[in-house]
Amino acid sequence: MSEAIIRRPARQIRVGNVPVGGGAVIAVQSMTNTPTADVAATAAQIRRLEQAGCDIVRVAVPDEASAAAIAGIKARIGIPLIADIHFDHRLAIAAVRAGADGLRINPGNIGTVRKVRAVVECAKERGIPIRIGVNAGSLEKEIVKKYRGATAEGMVESALRHIELLRGLDFDAIKVSLKASDVARTVAAYRRLAGLTDVPLHLGVTEAGTLFSGIVKSALGIGMLLSEGIGDTLRVSLTRDPSEEVRVGFEILKALHLRRRGPEIIACPTCGRTRIDLFGIVERIEQALTGCTAPITIAVMGCVVNGPGEAREADIGIAGGDGVGILFRKGKVVKKFPEERLVEALLAEVARVEKSLKREAAGSGDLR
Ligand code: SF4
Repeated sequence: MSEAIIRRPARQIRVGNVPVGGGAVIAVQSMTNTPTADVAATAAQIRRLEQAGCDIVRVAVPDEASAAAIAGIKARIGIPLIADIHFDHRLAIAAVRAGADGLRINPGNIGTVRKVRAVVECAKERGIPIRIGVNAGSLEKEIVKKYRGATAEGMVESALRHIELLRGLDFDAIKVSLKASDVARTVAAYRRLAGLTDVPLHLGVTEAGTLFSGIVKSALGIGMLLSEGIGDTLRVSLTRDPSEEVRVGFEILKALHLRRRGPEIIACPTCGRTRIDLFGIVERIEQALTGCTAPITIAVMGCVVNGPGEAREADIGIAGGDGVGILFRKGKVVKKFPEERLVEALLAEVARVEKSLKREAAGSGDLR
């Protein structure tokens, strides 16, 4: 058993019906990449995100048509929606009036205190939170000058200024993100801010990159912070279909035992002892279980050296032999199968476990 992570205490806010901070499960977010004004396409993408397990979705609101589209999108989706606004405070107000469940603004580029106040009053009226999104790329000029660059200290100073600004307007439903494109600066900034305030923190490494480097950077940056107990919600940024962001987000949480959704597949890397097509088997299992939400641990091991031990510790496991494999359930051998029937047998076993878990969870209605 790994040691439990002690989470940093943060105030709780709510984005629609999703609590963030204050010990709530870490919410997984993503952002659409369809034109927001295209209600049908955006709502369809959000529904796919919902199926992938996304808790909160964010849409870009670059113009009035996008702000107005929020009402139509909201009517077609089941998760809270955050409007992402830059520069124009009137768009923030329009988005809130159209039914947004939260705002993401950078008060630094919204303009005068009068404009920020107008946005805050509107959010207060509707009881919705605001995320202060500090981005290393758009830090205030005087802060960059003071710290001789967009440093972690500068990002934190910017965040604290904005927190103070909103609190000065008697507004406390705040969360903060501090994003830089490199892991070290991002982690340093969050660590510093985490010790200075109790606002819930939204984690992410911005412009993390293409799929491969993006996953590595996000898993490192977000993972390091989460493992220290920092972070109340997260978004993995990938240059890909946003559903992949949700998938990676859950994998990070799963790896740290912070949240489970779907099966955890443990597979051996294979070596000279492997006598079955383990790569193919794992791929087929992963494919077949894409939509499975049951928190089952599945071990797929290549041989009888380490295989049976690992397979026994999992809920369900396979230990391969020469063209055959043994199927285990909760440490007990179910049966030996020829290689070509192994996947089918394992999936049938998964379906049985899933069914019994669903029966057990019927009361709570949630397998996540
Ligand atoms: Fe090799 Fe067996 Fe270990 Fe897989 S479980 S890496 S096949 S020794």
